Amino acid sequence: MQLIMKYVYSFKEGNANMRELLGGKGANLAEMTNIGLPVPQGFTITTEACTKYYEDGREINQEIQDQINEYIVKMEEVTGKKFGDIENPLLVSVRSGARASMPGMMDTILNLGLNEEVVEVLAKKSNNERWAWDCYRRFIQMYSDVVMEVGKKYFEELIDQMKNKKGVTQDIELDANDLKELARQFKEEYKSKIGTDFPTDPKEQLMGAIKAVFRSWDNPRANVYRRDNDIPYSWGTAVNVQSMAFGNMGDDCGTGVAFTRDPATGEKGLFGEFLTNAQGEDVVAGVRTPMKIAEMAEKFPEAFEDFKNVCKTLEEHYRDMQDMEFTVEHGKLYMLQTRNGKRTAQAALKIACDLVDEGMRTEEEAVLMIEPRNLDTLLHPQFDQEALKATEPIGRGLGASPGAACGKVVFSAEDAEAWAAKKEKVILVRLETSPEDITGMKAAQGILTVRGGMTSHAAVVARGMGECCVSGCGEIVMDEANKKFTLKDKEYHEGDIISIDGTTGNIYEGEIPTVDAVIAGEFGRVMEWADKFRTLGVRTNADTPRDTKKAIELGAEGIGLCRTEHMFFDPERVFNLRKMIIAETVEDREKYLNNLIPYQKGDFKAMYKELKGLPMTVRYLDPPLHEFIPKTEPEMAELAESMGTTVEHVKEVCDSLHEFNPMMGHRGCRLAVTYPEIAKMQTRALIEAAIEVNEEDGLSIEPEIMIPLVGEVKELKFVKDVVVETAELIKKERNSTIKYHIGTMIEIPRAALTAGEIAKEAEFFSFGTNDLTQMTFGFSRDDAGKFLPSYYEHKIYEQDPFAKLDQIGVGKLVKMAVEDGKKTRPDIHLGICGEHGGDPSSVEFCNSIGLTYVSCSPFRVPIARLAAAQAAIKAGIEKKN
Ligand code: ADP
Ligand code: MG
Ligand code: MG
Repeated sequence: MQLIMKYVYSFKEGNANMRELLGGKGANLAEMTNIGLPVPQGFTITTEACTKYYEDGREINQEIQDQINEYIVKMEEVTGKKFGDIENPLLVSVRSGARASMPGMMDTILNLGLNEEVVEVLAKKSNNERWAWDCYRRFIQMYSDVVMEVGKKYFEELIDQMKNKKGVTQDIELDANDLKELARQFKEEYKSKIGTDFPTDPKEQLMGAIKAVFRSWDNPRANVYRRDNDIPYSWGTAVNVQSMAFGNMGDDCGTGVAFTRDPATGEKGLFGEFLTNAQGEDVVAGVRTPMKIAEMAEKFPEAFEDFKNVCKTLEEHYRDMQDMEFTVEHGKLYMLQTRNGKRTAQAALKIACDLVDEGMRTEEEAVLMIEPRNLDTLLHPQFDQEALKATEPIGRGLGASPGAACGKVVFSAEDAEAWAAKKEKVILVRLETSPEDITGMKAAQGILTVRGGMTSHAAVVARGMGECCVSGCGEIVMDEANKKFTLKDKEYHEGDIISIDGTTGNIYEGEIPTVDAVIAGEFGRVMEWADKFRTLGVRTNADTPRDTKKAIELGAEGIGLCRTEHMFFDPERVFNLRKMIIAETVEDREKYLNNLIPYQKGDFKAMYKELKGLPMTVRYLDPPLHEFIPKTEPEMAELAESMGTTVEHVKEVCDSLHEFNPMMGHRGCRLAVTYPEIAKMQTRALIEAAIEVNEEDGLSIEPEIMIPLVGEVKELKFVKDVVVETAELIKKERNSTIKYHIGTMIEIPRAALTAGEIAKEAEFFSFGTNDLTQMTFGFSRDDAGKFLPSYYEHKIYEQDPFAKLDQIGVGKLVKMAVEDGKKTRPDIHLGICGEHGGDPSSVEFCNSIGLTYVSCSPFRVPIARLAAAQAAIKAGIEKKN
C-alpha cells in the first residue's frame, strides 16, 4: 500500500521546527497557537504541495484538494462559521509563506468567502454596512489582481474617481454606499477584463486563491529576490488559510505591525505603527500615515497591555527580535504573524551583543545571528560629519535604512535601472514604492519616498538589501509626470544631484563628501568573537599599499593575491614594458626589463612595509602582452623614435600580437615560457625587496611566488627552474639565506585534474576560481552577463557562477585537487583567491573541504571572517549531532 502524503496541517498540528514544510509564516502561526497566543485559526498547505503543483503542470491534484476540503470542514467546526453560510459566514485570508521570509514578494488575499448574498448578511448582522462593503470591495480588488492578474491600477483608478466625485482624499471617508457602488464597478471591470462573472462560490474562490499563491512563487519579482538572497527555487511556498480578524469594523478596531527592538538601530523597546479602522496592508502601503505604536496605549489600553505581554512572551520564546503583525477587532487583540525581524547590519550587531549581555544567547549563537553579507553596508563610506555639520538639509524624512547615498534624481524604477546601466549613480525618488520596483531599487544608491513609515515597503526592502533609504518625507510635492518634485519652494528635476542620510533621514542638495568606515564598538566585539571561533585564515587580494593598509585594518592576515600587472600601467613604466615587447632580441628585452626592476622592487618593498611581516603571495605577470601595447599613432611614433625603429615596425609587432581568443591566448605562465626574462626580472625585484625589507625592518619575510595559469606540471617546472636559478643567484650576490616558496594557481581544469602531479613542484595552490569557473563552464566572464538572464528565467542556473561558487561542478574540481594535492604533499598550503573568497556560502564550502585560507577584496574581509566563523561553528554543531 502506498503511504498517503499529508499535505495539510491545522495550526494546532504544526510547530516552529516545521518551517521547511509549513513555511516560516505557517510554522510560526502554529507555534503561537501552541504557546496559547490569540491566533485566528486555520490551516497550512505544505511546500510539498507547491512542489507537486509545479510537477503536475500547475494543477492542484485531487488528493490535495480532498485534504484541503477535509480541513475546511475542520475549520468550520473550530470557528463555528461556515463558508457561504447566510447565518454565520466564514471569511478567510489566503496567505503565502515561504521557508525564508520574502516580505511583499508573493501574494495574499483577504476576506475570501464573500459574495453578493453573504455581504448583505454581514451588513445586516453586524449592523455595519460600511464594513461589509469595504471587505467585499477589497476582496474583489485583491482577488482580481492576484488570481486573475487584472492589474491593481484599474481598481485604484476607480477608487480615485470615486474620491474625486465625493470631494474627499482618503479611503476611510468613503461611506457604505460609495463602497457598494465601488464593488459593483469592480465586478464590472472584472467581467470586462476576464469575460466571465466574478466567482460567487467560496470554495471555488478558495481553490483559485491557493493556486494563485503557488503561482506567485514564480513571479518575476520573487525570482529576483530569491537570487539576491540565495533562496533556492526548489523550496516552494506554503499557503496559509486563516479565518479573518477585522481591523476595519470601526474606530475600536485597527491593525498594526511592530518590532520588539528598533530594526534600524537595534535599540530595545517596542517599535512600530498602528492604524485604526484599517485592514491588511494599509499600514505598510503608505495610503495613510499611521500612528506610532505608543499612541495605541491611549486608544486601546487593554489590547495594548495584552500586546506588550505577547511581545515579551515571543522574544523570550524565540530569543530574538520579533517582527509581528496584529489586528484589534472591537478592542480584542489577534496575532497574525511573527518572525525574526529583518534588521540593518548595525541593528543586527547591537541586538546580538545585547542578547549575549541579557543572557539569552551564547557568543557562538550571536555570531550565527548575523548575516555576513549585510556587513557590507557598514564597510561603505559614511558622510563626513564635518561636511554634514556645515550643510543645511533641504528636508527631512524618516531614517528608514542607514547609509550615505549621493546621486542623480530619477523618478521611476525603470529609469533607475537604465541610468545605473550607464554607470550613473542615482537616487530613486518615489511617492511610495511597491514590490514591482525591486530591481530599480537595487540599481539605485538610495531611495527617497514621500509617503510611508518605518515599516513601509520601501523601508523594509531597503533594509533587507542594505541600501540607504529615507522614507515618508511628506513635505515633498511630487510631479512624477513632469519628472520633478518641489521641496520648500524649490524645484528638483530629473538628473539633479541630492544626498540622503539613511540614519538621520536628512536630505541634502548636491554631493556631500564621505569618509571610510571603521570597525569599532559592537562591530568590533562581534568580529573578535568571530576570530575566536574560525579556523579558516582570511587574506586579501591587494596590489597597492593603500588597499593593503585598508585590508589589514579590516582584519586581513596577509595578501593571498598580489597582481603584478597593475603595477605597470604608470606611463613611464608602461613605456619600458612596451619597448620590451617591441624588442627583438633577448638582450634588448633584458635591457628594458632591467629598467623596470627598480619600480617593481619599490612596489614590493612598499607592500612588505605595509604588511609588517604578514605573508604575501605574488602572482607573476598574467595578461596577454597586447593589453599593454600603444593604441594611438603618436604613442607608436614616440616609441619607435626612442627605440630607433620605424612606426611601421612598431605597428607590425602590435598587429602580430592580435589574438582571436585572448582569454585563452598567450598569457599567464605561457609568457614566461616564451620570455623567461620576464620571470627573471620579477624574481629579482621580489627577492631583493624581501631581503632589503627584512634587513631594514628586522623581519623574516619568506616571499610566496605564484605562477599563474599552469595546466601541466612540466610547464610549472620550467618556470620554477628560472625562478630558482635567479633567486639563488641573488642570494649569493647578497649573501642571504632568505627562504622563498613557489606555488601555482589552479585555474585551468587540467591543473585541477592533474593536481597530484603539480603538487610535486608546487608548495602551495591558490584556486583562481574566476578563471576556473570561466573555463569549466566555457563562459567568458565578460560576456556571460548577456545570456545568464535567460538561464535564470528558465531556471537552468539560479545563480551567477562568478559570484557564487558552483559547488557541484567547479567545486568538484577544487575538492579533487585538494585531495590529490594533499596526497602528494601533506603539508601543502591551500587558498582561494577568486571573487568567491568573499561570498559567504562559498566560504563555508572552502571551510568544509579543508582550505587553509580564503582571500578576497579588502572590503569583503570582515564578511569572510564572519562567514568563516559561522562555518566553523556550524561544522562543530554537526559533528556533535
Ligand atoms: P505578507 O507576507 O506580504 O506580509 P501576509 O500574508 O502577512 O502578507 O498578509 C498581508 C496583510 O494581511 C498583513 O497585514 C496581514 O496581517 C493581513 N492579514 C492576513 N491574514 C489576515 C487575517 N486572517 N485577518 C486579518 N488580517 C490578515
Ligand atoms: Mg505579513
Ligand atoms: Mg586567472
